[in-house]
Amino acid sequence: EPNQQPISQKDATSHPTQKKKKEKLSSLCKTPPQLIRSRTGKDFYRGLFLGEGGFARCFQVKDDAGQIYAAKTVAKASLRSEKTKTKLLAEIKIHKSLKHQNIVDFVDCFEDDTNIYILLEICSNQSLMEMMRKRKRLTEPEVRYFIVQILGAVDYMHSRRVIHRDLKLGNIFLDVNMNIKIGDFGLAALLASDSDRKKTICGTPNYIAPEILFDKEKGHSYEVDIWSVGIIMYAMIFGKPPFQSKDVNTIYKRIKHLDYQFPVDMSCSDDAKDLIQILLSSQPEKRPSLNDIIKHPFFRGQFPYDLSSECINRVPKFP
Ligand code: ADP
Repeated sequence: EPNQQPISQKDATSHPTQKKKKEKLSSLCKTPPQLIRSRTGKDFYRGLFLGEGGFARCFQVKDDAGQIYAAKTVAKASLRSEKTKTKLLAEIKIHKSLKHQNIVDFVDCFEDDTNIYILLEICSNQSLMEMMRKRKRLTEPEVRYFIVQILGAVDYMHSRRVIHRDLKLGNIFLDVNMNIKIGDFGLAALLASDSDRKKTICGTPNYIAPEILFDKEKGHSYEVDIWSVGIIMYAMIFGKPPFQSKDVNTIYKRIKHLDYQFPVDMSCSDDAKDLIQILLSSQPEKRPSLNDIIKHPFFRGQFPYDLSSECINRVPKFP
């Protein structure tokens, strides 16, 4: 699945295919010391490297009590521009304000001389992206199990007037018990009121809602997250997102014309197809509300009580 990186306004309006190879800001982030001393006096011991994104590197850390966290580490050297600083502060402010069992818990935030550390709940089973790489496709009971938890988190965010705007397999983490934990609030927006609208072009090409690209005047709102849930559900069932193409302009064209098919050689229930179809409504106001989605017949099918982490590698057998 190429084109996983989120786009900024500039990338989207200029020539996305000719995007210059920018130096990743995360490369400025040096490995933190083995003993991280926060300015508040609490010490943390650095452990395994967990992964890196656009401007952060993530490490496992342990506190004195032996409690393990994920520390998202941002080099202060990468925060020279006011814009980057403002963005990081916005991400912290929004993430800090959210507390839900299906959202990565924001634990603390501190700094030393070189880095800023965001301490997060550890998600030891990685993200749905890694799981999909191994499994290719999920069974419908698994999809039901995951989508219900994703919807729970989205419902909560929307009730707090937060739009995530970058929901995708790689931002949906799994804890040790295979519970969904939505993370990365780097593109999230806090609305001033429910009628407020956002105009910044952002998202990740495969998951981006049509109104973000083609209705710039009018702006977008909560419905963009519902669209992304439709993309995620399609990707879980068929192993790739519906508008997947080699180049970004083709993806955008296909989104504009709602040009996707259900593969005929893969089994999928009519209920699942129907739900995907209504989630992927071109017009945002035609998309179902979270309340409507949960009442859809798709969710009346087999529902696992819990999932074992073995299903990351193997198709589970349900009784
Ligand atoms: P960025 O905002 O720079 O894109 P991310 O939030 O995507 O950074 O984090 C970078 C990587 O760190 C992720 O791809 C993932 O591998 C890992 N990671 C992030 N948060 C956690 C977490 N809570 N638990 C475990 N690993 C995490």
